[in-house]
Amino acid sequence: MSDVLTDVKKATGISKDAIAALRMKLRGDLISPGDPQYDLARRVHNGMIDKHPALIARCVDVADVSSAVEFGCDYGLDIAIRGGSHNGPGFGTIEGGLVIDLSRMRSVWVDPDERTVRVEGGALLGDVDHATYPFSLIVPAGIVSTVGIGGLTLGGGVGYLTRRNGLTVDNLLSVDMVLADGTFLTASKERNEDLFWAVRGGGGNFGVVTSFLFKASLLSSVYGGPIFWALEDAEDILAWWQDLILRDPDELSGWYGIVTVPKATPFPEMYQGKKMCVVTWCYTGPGEKATGVFKPIRSYRTPTIDFAGPIQYPALQSMFDALFPAGMQWYWKTDFFKHFEDQAIDINIKYGKQLPTPISQMHIYPINGMASKVGNEETAWGYRDANFIHDIIAIDPDPANNEKMIQWAREYAQSIHPYSLGGGYVNFMMEEGHEGVKSSYGDNYTRLAKIKAKYDPNNLFHVNQNILPQM
Ligand SMILES: Cc1cc2nc3c(=O)[nH]c(=O)nc-3n(C[C@H](O)[C@H](O)[C@H](O)COP(=O)(O)OP(=O)(O)OC[C@H]3O[C@@H](n4cnc5c(N)ncnc54)[C@H](O)[C@@H]3O)c2cc1C
Repeated sequence: MSDVLTDVKKATGISKDAIAALRMKLRGDLISPGDPQYDLARRVHNGMIDKHPALIARCVDVADVSSAVEFGCDYGLDIAIRGGSHNGPGFGTIEGGLVIDLSRMRSVWVDPDERTVRVEGGALLGDVDHATYPFSLIVPAGIVSTVGIGGLTLGGGVGYLTRRNGLTVDNLLSVDMVLADGTFLTASKERNEDLFWAVRGGGGNFGVVTSFLFKASLLSSVYGGPIFWALEDAEDILAWWQDLILRDPDELSGWYGIVTVPKATPFPEMYQGKKMCVVTWCYTGPGEKATGVFKPIRSYRTPTIDFAGPIQYPALQSMFDALFPAGMQWYWKTDFFKHFEDQAIDINIKYGKQLPTPISQMHIYPINGMASKVGNEETAWGYRDANFIHDIIAIDPDPANNEKMIQWAREYAQSIHPYSLGGGYVNFMMEEGHEGVKSSYGDNYTRLAKIKAKYDPNNLFHVNQNILPQM
């Protein structure tokens, strides 16, 4: 242990005594290079990210978080906050700095009478669904249950229920936070309202959220799952799906994708390895109406593979978990769209046909319905007039394929960007520089920069899609 502390001291200039004192203060773990668990603890979901933090503070409560923040601030360490570690550019870790790791803070408390859910800052989406579903309650979030509620919520939060219940941030009632000076506060519509506005889309820029309080909504039944069509139908299906999503009631949703059918059961062998288009549906209206709702969907073009049917919500939420295990190489590109005109549809089909690896895909998520009933200035999320998020996702287990994946994603994004609204969803972005962050927030950026200057004037929390403090 003493050799390890000598190494950390050399790298950071922090004395062994100071590190030992922090270790004593924490109820959680302080992990440093050389510790048996260090190599596992430093990893994040994206295998492309390979960083070596000086210290990882695996906190168990607010007091731990506060001690870790104060320590990082006192010793001038770069601080990364880690929730579920799924962030594309790997903002849940930092070379040579301090990781405040919330992975031991995953508790969820449901109040079925008040219909509220308190969720600790390191919980995963699956933790929330597991706790709420027995009460027939949900908090709308993303489509893979291993993602962290922390990063997802702070960036906005998009999933199957966005049209029905809004973004995840639209269901947020308050946050408990540790700020850059180590102090603790609650932000809500009634308390520290400016901060509450900023965290609803502004990411981890303002402090460590130790817990979220969400409004929960009733959900009685779901009919959904993926329906695949032949790649030759991809263009028609995209145009038809887009019209349907813009027209049909909010209780019907579904995201469009071009994917390669996995070489695994339950996919029929004859289609495994083939590129196809898919819509993964989620209908939350009365169960007895579902078959009727899906009749025109099934008759527009004959599906090639049809897995849609009655399904438990947590099962839909975790249906794709196994396709995205930790450690694969990920590279993302994103834009907001109002509408996909013919030229943009052509570009999607062209690049969809060229998916560079079997797991790479393109997705389009609807964000109209309830999410668009909130005004652009009501939360930090600045694209309420967008109807869709476009998501280019290059994925592969083998780093040897990174170059071709990145080239495909960049060329695709460059071709389609001119048809977009100009910015992208922060949760689907790699590091796109300051201009990329600004364009993601549109007109809300200036207000965010002022709130950042008030709560984190020295930009202690800069390992994120960074908003620069500016009065
Ligand atoms: C397989 C997969 C599926 C996805 N599906 C969806 C989806 O359906 N919908 C969607 O909207 N997004 C989705 N995403 C994107 C996801 O929202 C982002 O990757 C998000 O950043 C992940 O949050 P995290 O807590 O897991 O990540 P982390 O890497 O731990 O954190 C991400 C960022 O949030 C900050 N942060 C995290 N927790 C806290 C906290 N408690 N307090 C302060 N800051 C914090 C971190 O500092 C970092 O900047 C998906 C990502 C993956 C890899």
